[in-house]
Amino acid sequence: MYNMISEIDLRELSKISSKDRAFLTVYVEDIKDLKTINQRLENLGHVIANDYEKEIYNENIKLLHELLKKEINLKGCYVFFICWLLNFTEFYELEIPISDQVIIDSSPFIKPIAEIKDEYEDFAVVVADNDRARVFLISALKEQDQKVIKGKIKNHVKVGGWSQQRYERRRDKQLHHYVQDIIDYLHQLEHEHDYSRIVMVGAKEVLTHLEKELPLRLKNKLITDEVIDLKQQNIDEEIYKLFTELERQEEENLWNQIKSKYVAGGLAVVGLEEVLKNLKVGRVEAVLVDRNYQPQGIRCRNCGNLIPEEVDKCPLCNSEDVFSVDLVNEITEWAYKTSALIEYADNIEELKKLGSIAALLRF
Ligand SMILES: [Zn+2]
Repeated sequence: MYNMISEIDLRELSKISSKDRAFLTVYVEDIKDLKTINQRLENLGHVIANDYEKEIYNENIKLLHELLKKEINLKGCYVFFICWLLNFTEFYELEIPISDQVIIDSSPFIKPIAEIKDEYEDFAVVVADNDRARVFLISALKEQDQKVIKGKIKNHVKVGGWSQQRYERRRDKQLHHYVQDIIDYLHQLEHEHDYSRIVMVGAKEVLTHLEKELPLRLKNKLITDEVIDLKQQNIDEEIYKLFTELERQEEENLWNQIKSKYVAGGLAVVGLEEVLKNLKVGRVEAVLVDRNYQPQGIRCRNCGNLIPEEVDKCPLCNSEDVFSVDLVNEITEWAYKTSALIEYADNIEELKKLGSIAALLRF
């Protein structure tokens, strides 16, 4: 069985690792076209120097081919995590295509997925007027199942006297039920996929009621200060645009927080070495890293240590039995493992000048 990207538990994946490069991660942009992937798998096989790792690698490839043979009906983009040594195979469909990549490492290579997850957080959307509400979830830019909830709230009328009051009372009650139905579905959605935000657009009366009756936990996820015109031809496109803007804003906010603390000598660090050092001991609250920053480091097979520079020898135990690793992937893993937030910044010049990576500390 495979899963959607929204179901990938990066925290669980980040905890899995082995001392050797026993993990094969394969990103396949189009599963119907494996030419590039097969070529890379073959090429990599020729350059693995360590015999033990080579044996594991060949077994991993066997597992991958068996899986592909079994799942011939797949279409689109996928990621495969395979480790024969740990008897581990998982694969996921990716709604946002990632270009072909084959990575061997001591753990699953999760960086590309973490970046997508950061850029496209799951969110629930409510488009409501008095007549009906459309509630749906957007996960990595793909709309999931939606539900239409009928409201049929009639307009206010001027009748006057007792019947007017009765009419309004009935109307209020209808509105209350309608809004409760919407909230029930938001709860159900939250249970199924833990979305991080709610956007509501539509008729003011319904939205005001909805906001008032929303339980606090859901209210905290609500984006309220953004206006989307319901008459817009393409609401979905408007919502996507809004989310990209919000993501940029979040990066900026995090940077400003880090900066002000750093300047005041408070709980913030900048630069690769400091960030890594603090991550390893669980002191990091949030990491901000430039999306284009690609530092390399090494991992020592002998003592298992990660060294944030490209050297031939382990500075801790002097062993030459080392292999190079993608440090931002390592940092991503550490962040997930220690429940730290990680944001990939798009274009923050100051951050680039201060080493392209910075963090807010917990203590
Ligand atoms: Zn070492």
